[in-house]
Amino acid sequence: MTFIDTHAHVTAREFDADRDEVLARAADAGIRFIINPGTNLEDSRRAVELAERHPMVYAAVGYHPHDARLADEAGLAAIEELSTHPRVVAIGEIGLDFHYDLSPRDAQERVFAAQLAIAQRRDLPVIIHSRESLELTVAMLDASITACPEWRESRRAHGSRAPGPRGVFHCYPGDVATAWKLVGMGFMVSLPGIVTFKKPGNAVDVAAGISIEHQLLETDSPYLAPVPHRGTRNEPMHIPLIAQRIADVQHLSVEDVARSTNVAAYQLFGVGEKPEPRFTYPLKRSLYINLTNRCDADCVFCDRKGEAMVKGHNLKITREPEAEEVIAEIGDPTRYEEVVFCGYGEPTIRLEALKQVARFVKDRGGRTRLNTDGHGNIINKRNIVPELAGLVDAVSISLNSTDPQQYGALMRIDGPKNFAAMVEFAREAVRTLPRVVLTIVDLDDVDEDKARSFVEKEIGAIFAKRPFF
Ligand code: SF4
Ligand SMILES: [Zn+2]
Repeated sequence: MTFIDTHAHVTAREFDADRDEVLARAADAGIRFIINPGTNLEDSRRAVELAERHPMVYAAVGYHPHDARLADEAGLAAIEELSTHPRVVAIGEIGLDFHYDLSPRDAQERVFAAQLAIAQRRDLPVIIHSRESLELTVAMLDASITACPEWRESRRAHGSRAPGPRGVFHCYPGDVATAWKLVGMGFMVSLPGIVTFKKPGNAVDVAAGISIEHQLLETDSPYLAPVPHRGTRNEPMHIPLIAQRIADVQHLSVEDVARSTNVAAYQLFGVGEKPEPRFTYPLKRSLYINLTNRCDADCVFCDRKGEAMVKGHNLKITREPEAEEVIAEIGDPTRYEEVVFCGYGEPTIRLEALKQVARFVKDRGGRTRLNTDGHGNIINKRNIVPELAGLVDAVSISLNSTDPQQYGALMRIDGPKNFAAMVEFAREAVRTLPRVVLTIVDLDDVDEDKARSFVEKEIGAIFAKRPFF
């Protein structure tokens, strides 16, 4: 298990006496890469030099809002020039800090806008620092995206409604609702050791409330050391403490957090590499089975035709596995809480393989779940629910909407026909299988109360919501 510290000021003078030891300790603790943001031109040059000397370090360059008063035109031009260096992966850290006001606010705004323009010209992501200025920071980002909508647009995953990642709010100070808005604008968030503090402000709510795919890990060394080191000089080697806390509030394993945040850092900064596609993938205490990328639907919120990543797992398979291959990967199914048929694709398209694998799991005392769009009867041209009895312990069906027209629009299929088939499948499943859950995606225009009452009263199943992005 390795981690990426996406925000550590290893160039800070606090590390002058033992910089190499700090990096060696980080490597020993499993930190594979560190991104060192610059705070002004001199510090940005130091960041680049450090990155040249140490393969584990990458640099970001820019003027911190505290140092905005130092940024004249020549300085900003030098930052842009420096940003062409191959070890530079971002413009940062940049933004607005109205808490300390160490630079005049008009200078902060001018320099922030100028550096956003540099990031856009260079097609680089940004590392944002915002303190007591969130509203204006978001408004300036919004304006700059409007002025340059193509900024990192090519990195948008095909089929995804979320734009390609444009930057990260480091030490994100706001609430969950604003964080989701930022995700929609193509930003990630990262939270340092504050998540481990007794009084974490919004940090724990954000760490728990934003899906892990949109979070990065950071220490913000030498500041904000996590508990139990609070008050001492922070170092990148403390990342695992932060990752563990985020895992706890996300109800994930620390491996899930490490893998997912590494992939997020790869997507944003191009650091590290994309993982290989997988037929089976562990999440929390369960094992998931990825039988196919084929689907009869084409949901507007689905990334099946895009990157098809889930919590750092690459599900974009280039061929479909044989049941025997999957069984070999499962091994002893009792090691897992559940074995779940779920990928970017509809598992009942591979009904025979699904049944063979489920039979193996049940024969060896494991538990199974099927995540499906509920169109298995149409796909297989027969009622398949009786065939699942004894093989599938739980089924989770995407309800998406109780309105057949909206259902069709969201899934880009014939709404009325497929909605009726899905409801029939759900009713039959309630009669036949031990546990049936129907889910909707958390979208503003989907009527949640109506969906809940439909699921509980008319179908007799359990209702659940899943996040949009
Ligand atoms: S049914 Fe599932 S796999 Fe198919 S397009 Fe919709 S979300 Fe993606
Ligand atoms: Zn910083």
